Amino acid sequence: MTINDYKFAGKKAIVRVDFNVPLNENGEITDDTRIRGALPTLKHILADGGALIIMSHMGKPKGKVNEKLSLGQIKDAVAAALGVPVAFAPDCAKAQEAAANLKAGEVLLLENLRFYAEEEGKPVGIDKEDPAYEEAKKEMKGKQKEFAKTLAGYADCYVMDAFGTAHRKHASTAVIADYFDADNKMLGFLMEKEVQAVDNVLSNIKRPFVAIMGGSKVSSKIGIIENLLGKVDKLILCGGMTYTFKKAHGGEIGDSIVEMDKLDVALGVEEQAKKNGVELVIGVDSVCGDKFSNDANQKICPSDAIEAGWEGMDAGPETRKLFVEAIKGAKTILWNGPAGVFEFDNFCDGSRAIGEAVAEATKEGAFSLIGGGDSVACVNKFGLADQVSYISTGGGALLEAIEGKVLPGVAAIKG
Ligand code: AMP
Repeated sequence: MTINDYKFAGKKAIVRVDFNVPLNENGEITDDTRIRGALPTLKHILADGGALIIMSHMGKPKGKVNEKLSLGQIKDAVAAALGVPVAFAPDCAKAQEAAANLKAGEVLLLENLRFYAEEEGKPVGIDKEDPAYEEAKKEMKGKQKEFAKTLAGYADCYVMDAFGTAHRKHASTAVIADYFDADNKMLGFLMEKEVQAVDNVLSNIKRPFVAIMGGSKVSSKIGIIENLLGKVDKLILCGGMTYTFKKAHGGEIGDSIVEMDKLDVALGVEEQAKKNGVELVIGVDSVCGDKFSNDANQKICPSDAIEAGWEGMDAGPETRKLFVEAIKGAKTILWNGPAGVFEFDNFCDGSRAIGEAVAEATKEGAFSLIGGGDSVACVNKFGLADQVSYISTGGGALLEAIEGKVLPGVAAIKG
């Protein structure tokens, strides 16, 4: 079923959203992007005459009630965003009555799903090495099904719209779908948009396809890097991982960030790129600092000749030219991870150069997909958000989808 085809009039819809919004110490929302992201789906259901049961997690309460992570804190913000009053169910597993009494146009927000360990379905308080762990896990999986069934019992249909958690097989993101037939479960608009954006990059590739992978470490991105080597024409590797590649060739990298146990991995990536005919673009010079701080003294060094006492913190001027050149003319672009310590204004020029080149290529007709918290923060910092094709709300989920993995949250709906 699709959300556009479903008739919500007179129906109760239980919708999994990602309202895991950042709060300050007073419990006030500091960034409401995720709430705004879910509005098209929520408003559509109300406008079509449905009643809404909204469910989400917030933070990592690990199966225990934690008032600091209560969704009650955001109830008023959700009501303001929707323009209708919102009732609150303080126990998400005991909301039968509140759900049963809901009328068309009314909204019920459930308390944080992760106050129940059943949501994630992992046993708590028992070590993985413990011989009893496997038994506890089996038992928890059974409880997870019961929990999902309880949630499903509140509504006539299920809408999955939490892309940020779609790579997790949790009670509310996947297991619950087993309790609805195919005609009564669907993806929400945000999920549809995200899935379509990934599809544009994976199955509708216009070439040249240029991927830019940055950030601090090779290790956290190696899965996606290896996968991209089978898909892209050019791969820019930047940020902190640069120095693992330089070190692997015996370069001097001073105090730059490095993963000494990943030197082989770096060489393997280079070899695979050569085999696949992928042009690998790695920086040649760096803006180095004499301490990890915005007001560090700076000098430009070749990225494989950095003296002790200095560390590479951003792409140097020659490197920026290489990156801009590599991005120019691209027709499909994926960007994940900054080219330097962009949080420091004095070390963000490399990331800015990439952002501007991506925006320029987009103007020339490229499809550009930006994902992962830090690259999205970069694009926002440089005021380029409206000059790229699509900004994903997913970090891990986006990378797993691009690796070609089927997300449990999508599989649960589409089979
Ligand atoms: P990740 O979480 O792996 O995507 O990495 C993002 C982080 O990498 C950002 O906070 C950047 O500040 C950091 N980063 C990028 N380049 C460097 C570098 N050369 N040295 C240290 N940290 C870096």
